[in-house]
Amino acid sequence: LQTNVQLGRSLANRVPALHRLHWIGGSAVKLEGGAEFVVLQPRSGSVVARCASATRAQIAAAIETARDAQPEWAERTWLARGEVLRKAAQLIREHLEPLAVAECEDNGKPIYEARMDVASCAETFDFYAGVGASLARPHYPLDSSHFVYTRREPIGVVGCVGAWNYPLQTCSWTTAPALAAGNAVVYKPSPLSPLTARLLAEILQEAGLPNGVYNVVQGEGETGAVLVESPRINKVSFIGSIMTGKTIVQACAARSIKHVTLELGDKSSLIILEDADVDSAVAGAMIANFFSQGQVCSNAIKVLVHRSIVDAFTARLVAKTAAMKVGDPLDESTKVGAVISKEHRAKVKAYIDGAVAEGARLLYGGREVTVAGLEGGFYLEPAILTDIREDMTVCKEEIFGSVLLVIPFDEVEEALRMANGTDMGLAVGVFTKNMSKAHKLAARLHAGNIYVNTYNDVSPFVPFGGYGQSGFGRENGLAALEHYTQLKSVFISTDENLQNPFQ
Ligand code: NAD
Repeated sequence: LQTNVQLGRSLANRVPALHRLHWIGGSAVKLEGGAEFVVLQPRSGSVVARCASATRAQIAAAIETARDAQPEWAERTWLARGEVLRKAAQLIREHLEPLAVAECEDNGKPIYEARMDVASCAETFDFYAGVGASLARPHYPLDSSHFVYTRREPIGVVGCVGAWNYPLQTCSWTTAPALAAGNAVVYKPSPLSPLTARLLAEILQEAGLPNGVYNVVQGEGETGAVLVESPRINKVSFIGSIMTGKTIVQACAARSIKHVTLELGDKSSLIILEDADVDSAVAGAMIANFFSQGQVCSNAIKVLVHRSIVDAFTARLVAKTAAMKVGDPLDESTKVGAVISKEHRAKVKAYIDGAVAEGARLLYGGREVTVAGLEGGFYLEPAILTDIREDMTVCKEEIFGSVLLVIPFDEVEEALRMANGTDMGLAVGVFTKNMSKAHKLAARLHAGNIYVNTYNDVSPFVPFGGYGQSGFGRENGLAALEHYTQLKSVFISTDENLQNPFQ
């Protein structure tokens, strides 16, 4: 109880953590010598910390720390490791509020969303705490005296590189299965939201994770590049953009051969058929576009609506979007918080303005907003555009912001072609009352996640990942565990005298 109180104080008072953002071998450390990056609060634009990136030598030392700690952790039973993960889940729930506030300040998302994210991290740790029992593998009888069994073993040290849009949630997506399987982790968060992966280290330590099994090194792309190219790590797990993902795959093969999991970007669609319930479809379109200021990898920016209902749909969508409060993410009534950075806000705004210049019609939003008392914050209204042509930039590139394109269609085949008309494939949604049509479309859509009459649901039970350029490997579920373990086949003969084929 005593240490829990200390952990609570530590999480509530985040300032020390901000000044010792690296975590190596079970200790918070302030490193020196590397290029400095500045940590800003999106809600206010104010500087909250300056941090030196880990240097090549410091990253190498963190990897060696993880290598030293990993064998003892791997020796423990699945149940013993699960106990630590279950305790971590419990501590995350106990400290949900300070963690949510930290996420909200670090990332700019509304506090109600940050609470949902933190709660889902606890679920992820809980799921992987109990997963060992489901790994029973077959015994292969070859003949009366030969059989084979398989062992599922950890890979070793996993280097994780994270994105900024769901900092703690995506950290738990990689860390929980990696640790459950007996690996050690060196985690590099995005420099735009470096705090909560570091706070998780304190929780894991309090839960009983041995020192050195989970380490956090901070820095920008260069730090990530040094981590992933190191031949001393055995697997890389990356969540980020397609461009960086391509560089990472090359780096993973440059000095050694590593296992790689990539969760990348997308250009998703939501198909709303003529029989859909319009209010549900409006709710679905908003869920598919407006969480986390639209900075969601699976967001369905292309909302393809059957022409017979497009006017009713658009009118209700605009009214409901206009009613969303843009404001301080810490305010309970805020529905749209701050975009991650000034540069990212300018990028999203440029896509909106560019679309209008190319002939699109702005139905709502897209203006920068100044929030009283937080004048330096990065606020932008969600935007709804129509009169979209498929050759427009806004229809082709990932925007990663609250920009929703209403695109009418006449025939379902046309909608299918537009939804599949991308080389990415993380998610597609369908709204219809006709389940037969929904299942047929689900089979023909090219994406790793299909949502029917819902959107953007995730669960620790369910594999999540992409087709095509959206990446490979899966997060969540037993599928993720496959990517943090390697399979060993053990061939056994019960013959007392092995026949010699050479005699
Ligand atoms: P990003 O690719 O710019 O950066 C991601 C991470 O990679 C950061 O930590 C960054 O410092 C690091 N990095 C940059 N260059 C690197 C290099 N050469 N080697 C190693 N690491 C390097 O992406 P971002 O802007 O942080 O995140 C937004 C992108 O992430 C979007 O495209 C979004 O769709 C994607 N994303 C995908 C998922 C998913 O589950 N599929 C989830 C969240 C975000």
